[in-house]
Amino acid sequence: MALFGTNGVRGIVNKELTPETALNLARSLAAFLWERKSETDCRTAPTVILGTDTRISGMMLKSAAAAGLLASGVTVVDVGIVPTPSLQYYVKNRAEADAGIIITASHNPREYNGLKLIASDGTEFSREDEKIVEKIYHSQKFIAADWLKTGGIRFENNCNEEYLTGILAIIDRKAIEKKSFKIVTDTGNGAGSLTMPDLMSRLGCRVLALGAQPDGTFPWRNPEPLPEALQEAAAVMRESAFDLGVAQDGDADRAVFIDENGDFIDDEIMLAAVEKYVLHKEKGPVVTTVGTSLCFTDIAKDEEAEIYYTAIGSVDVGRKMAEVGAVYGGEGNGGIIYPRHQICRDGAMAAALVLEMMAHTGMKASEIKDTVPVYFNKKTKIRLSVPDLENAMAEIADKIIAASDLLEYSEIDRTDGLKLWFGGRAWLLIRPSGTEPIIRITAEAKSEEEVLKYLEIGKKYVSEIA
Ligand code: MG
Repeated sequence: MALFGTNGVRGIVNKELTPETALNLARSLAAFLWERKSETDCRTAPTVILGTDTRISGMMLKSAAAAGLLASGVTVVDVGIVPTPSLQYYVKNRAEADAGIIITASHNPREYNGLKLIASDGTEFSREDEKIVEKIYHSQKFIAADWLKTGGIRFENNCNEEYLTGILAIIDRKAIEKKSFKIVTDTGNGAGSLTMPDLMSRLGCRVLALGAQPDGTFPWRNPEPLPEALQEAAAVMRESAFDLGVAQDGDADRAVFIDENGDFIDDEIMLAAVEKYVLHKEKGPVVTTVGTSLCFTDIAKDEEAEIYYTAIGSVDVGRKMAEVGAVYGGEGNGGIIYPRHQICRDGAMAAALVLEMMAHTGMKASEIKDTVPVYFNKKTKIRLSVPDLENAMAEIADKIIAASDLLEYSEIDRTDGLKLWFGGRAWLLIRPSGTEPIIRITAEAKSEEEVLKYLEIGKKYVSEIA
């Protein structure tokens, strides 16, 4: 079975994800790092930065991971409870940090946890390096350090402070402070509780902080910031005069936004609106996934920015951004990536950028949607009964490609699953899920009828296989 899913190793605690998983994953990472070290410098022990979100099982898994690293002769720096992007920023800025492990299940329900590996430059581990670590994990070729060389552990309390200082250093604080924005934050008892309200108040905002007590039982709401989980925040926004609402998932790499009327701002629209704002002040390429709305593409064209598309997932977007020197990127789902801070999804950075955009343009939050082109986007998924998802996807693609006369598509893109273009203003994407036996179908077009038509085509061909 594959160890790594789309976003690291995840599972229900003590059922799918045990201390042994954490121990052996950490030992595998250690073996990987020692191997890398021996190519350059075989004397100094590798250093790994270790942190958790607020989940109850965080300490259990962290202790197991630390034991695995120490047993392999690795030095550990424990940064405590931190948002994923906070740990990433810390790793990026430490010359001695060879990797990081963040123990989090992001937006998954309360009973889950997970481990995610961070590369020495602060980005997520590449798929290739994950495969090497996974191979070591299954082979169990671990390193048992001599008693004299087992690792040491150091505790560090300043990780979140450094992260916030980094954001404040690159944002126009004065312009934001002048506005004295009134903000609702809903960090849902997750790791963002330790950073988002603090950041907002340091930007001169008046803050009402909901769910801001770090608590792994998540008494306030589910860790996933879906509109239904954010009804309280939306109600507060409607009842009183606030300028913006910001909500985060459990590990605070994502941020979603609510306008002054209590309405949710669509994440694809926010991604494109911030893209427009960034491209007005910085020139360079942008990167997103093949699943992102055409409004992102239109803005890149308007601003004469080069645009690159990757497979779904922030790992791929981030890698491409580094490769092409992008000034902006990300994916829907609240995943804004601003490389002036760092190349990863970064909820606090996203919120600061949105405030800067509002301060500079004078826009209200409800007016943000008017700055990007309108598209209709629909999604559905079909559960497969056949066991081999890859095979099923290949079969679906073959059938659709063979029916080219019937479907009248203008172009095929195989970056991730199968994407059909219909004249550059509409598309249909069919792709297998990274974690479940599901085929996801997404369509986008300029009208509601058109989008339904394309979605039906997708459903028809996938159902034939399912
Ligand atoms: Mg997350």
